[in-house]
Amino acid sequence: MALPKQGLLLLTPGPLTTSASVKEAMLRDWGSRDEDFLRLTRTVRRTLIKLCGGEGSHVAVLLQGSGTFALEAMLGTMVAPSGKVLVAVNGAYGARMVTICRRIGRAVTAYETPEDTPADPGKIEQRLAADRAITHVAIVHCETTSGILNPVAEVAAAVAAQGRRLLIDSMSSFGALPLDAGQLAFEATASSANKCLQGVPGLAFVLCRESALRQSAGNAPSLSLDLYDQWQAMENNGQWRFTPPTHVVAALSRALEELAGEGGIDGRRRRYQRNCEVLIRGMTALGFRPILPARLQAPIIVTFAMPVQCGFDFEAFYRGLKVRGYVIYPGKLTRMNTFRIGCIGDVDETDIAGALEAIRETLEEMRMDLTVAPRAELPATKHTA
Ligand SMILES: *Cc1c(COP(=O)(O)O)cnc(C)c1O
Repeated sequence: MALPKQGLLLLTPGPLTTSASVKEAMLRDWGSRDEDFLRLTRTVRRTLIKLCGGEGSHVAVLLQGSGTFALEAMLGTMVAPSGKVLVAVNGAYGARMVTICRRIGRAVTAYETPEDTPADPGKIEQRLAADRAITHVAIVHCETTSGILNPVAEVAAAVAAQGRRLLIDSMSSFGALPLDAGQLAFEATASSANKCLQGVPGLAFVLCRESALRQSAGNAPSLSLDLYDQWQAMENNGQWRFTPPTHVVAALSRALEELAGEGGIDGRRRRYQRNCEVLIRGMTALGFRPILPARLQAPIIVTFAMPVQCGFDFEAFYRGLKVRGYVIYPGKLTRMNTFRIGCIGDVDETDIAGALEAIRETLEEMRMDLTVAPRAELPATKHTA
């Protein structure tokens, strides 16, 4: 039983396995107002804009904190207090944007589809036509709850056709799935360092259409989550308003170099796609069942139905994998018992093959064979009076 190369491999939606060189990039200290760090900040901002094809139209605003901080900053800054947001919801992250809007006092309405059903651009267009008060549509690109892909390009077209503005949560897709401002009109998109960009947690960012951000002064109900103020500070003297996560920025800078070295977004998507295919093929052979059909499955994270064989103990399964060096993720679907395995991070198909071997060993240890049909439920005893 050989442990994977890094000791513990995180097959989760993030934070996830990072490369040794990304970790090494954090081995020095940076003065937050020093030119070296300001240069790092500038480079990271410029690279993020290039990645979304937003040169000349969009600007990058970096923000301390986890991804949710960026979502809250995006909704609070880009949507005026008089605005109204239509949120497409098919999982926990869409629902979270609704919660944020309520908390910060933005009018909000939800368009819900089941967790295994992508948002329908036609339905969104109807909702917009019927409610002129809606100023913005917010949608999750890859809904990490299930791993489903939402049709953001088609939704962008529907939103543009109705003359409204689109906000995208691209947290679990940015860096691996294309999101090109030249081809898909979006007002802002929020993501973080620790998912497909393969940096470490502690830094999030919002890529905003500059003309819209310029008009957003005074919108934000929060001081620290005000993207306009944060942007102004970064433009004026290149500095962050409040203590920046210096080491995290350095790690992201290194991670972005590695992304370029891998062939950019296309190269990364291809590796994740292979990981995803090897994972699904191997898991299916072991008797597990992914809950999404292939055409809806993003190559980010796969949700598997919890086996129905009696006696399958997820805690024991999780522990068996962890002692073998692999950390997986519990499920998050509301209506189904599931667990998830991530395809992202500094992992390749050899790592996935290692994880599959660990899964096979663990099942053997648990004396579970999932390839044989579960025993039919014993018929309920009939009590006759
Ligand atoms: C990870 C993630 C977030 C942000 O979660 P944090 O825990 O705040 O980093 C938001 N949306 C999606 C789709 C995500 O995958």
